[in-house]
Amino acid sequence: MSYKNINTALIHGGISTDERTGAVNVPIYQTSTFKQDGLGKLRGYEYSRTGNPTREALEALIAELEGGYAGFAFASGLAAETAVLSLLHSGDRVLISSNVYGGTFRLLNQVFDHFGINYTISDTEDIAAFERDITPDVKAVLVESPANPLMTVTDIRAVAEKAHEHGLLVIVDNTFMTPYLQRPLELGADIVVHSATKYLGGHSDVVAGLAVTKTKELAEKIAFIQNSTGGVLPPFDSFLLIRGIKTLGVRLDRHVSNALAAAEFLSKHSAVKSVHYPGLVTDKGYEVNKRQAKNGGVMISFELTDGHDIEKFFESLKLVTLAESLGGVESLVCHPSSMTHASIPEEIRRKVGITDGLIRLSIGIEDIDDILDDIEQAIKASEVS
Ligand SMILES: *Cc1c(COP(=O)(O)O)cnc(C)c1O
Repeated sequence: MSYKNINTALIHGGISTDERTGAVNVPIYQTSTFKQDGLGKLRGYEYSRTGNPTREALEALIAELEGGYAGFAFASGLAAETAVLSLLHSGDRVLISSNVYGGTFRLLNQVFDHFGINYTISDTEDIAAFERDITPDVKAVLVESPANPLMTVTDIRAVAEKAHEHGLLVIVDNTFMTPYLQRPLELGADIVVHSATKYLGGHSDVVAGLAVTKTKELAEKIAFIQNSTGGVLPPFDSFLLIRGIKTLGVRLDRHVSNALAAAEFLSKHSAVKSVHYPGLVTDKGYEVNKRQAKNGGVMISFELTDGHDIEKFFESLKLVTLAESLGGVESLVCHPSSMTHASIPEEIRRKVGITDGLIRLSIGIEDIDDILDDIEQAIKASEVS
């Protein structure tokens, strides 16, 4: 079916009804195996690691939303990344954006390195610098835009064009934007990965990962790796994700309007030294982001001016919750240097600009005045006299 707008596809995309009963929601096929009618006579499924109807509905949905050939659901975002990076071979090198998610860095730095797969941190914001990093062993680039936690924007189209001139595979982690705000395959990426734990799930109640490939050839390879390595998403979690995705559009509309109001509030605040949010006209990534995404998204990071005790700030928040993760309906705050990005060595953190004073906000869909009142009182409480 074709739709005028993604809002309809969020609800009716993929396989949205049960053919047999007419149930308007895809049932949870909580089964590990499937009866065969005779030797080699399958009814489409044989074993749930290989394929499960609930997971398949989710996989068809995300493929449709991202505009790809096929989708794959994994037990976490990192399981999805592990499967995608398993396309590489010993001796290959992957370039990664300079502030990718800490777990992505750790996966390459402390797991894939055992298998002789190397990485280089590349400033993908700067196309010339990115091209200089393409040595003969580089086979792929993994981009996050906006990248965590400084919200740096990479021109996905420009990176994809340059990368393809050198025969690289282009992987984009679209967790922060979702296909509602940004569609990397249309901008030239070959594979999109998600931590669906975040906005796609949207309610902080499921850990999940997704990958979508642009081509049939890549889909066949990822399907083989998914089945061979086995990090698949269970049927119940697949159901939760389908349920979450149905409200992605309405949730994100509110998330984004709240985030813009919060970013404007912080950028005018005398106690705030810097604000990183690509939805602000004054942000260095604004123009590029505007070309490739619907808006600036939801994630904001900022620093307080000297004379504020950051630990006091975190302790004083009453509504905004101090926690890892992001993308849920509730507002969350975190301290990247000691939490999400702690697995990145201090010297690298310093080099890429992740300071100990940096605060990351995932703005929820509560009433914006309540969110801002809470931030304001915590800033006041954090003043050092
Ligand atoms: C959370 C996150 C991941 C990892 O996903 P999990 O579901 O926690 O495994 C990867 N990339 C980004 C941008 C994230 O925020």
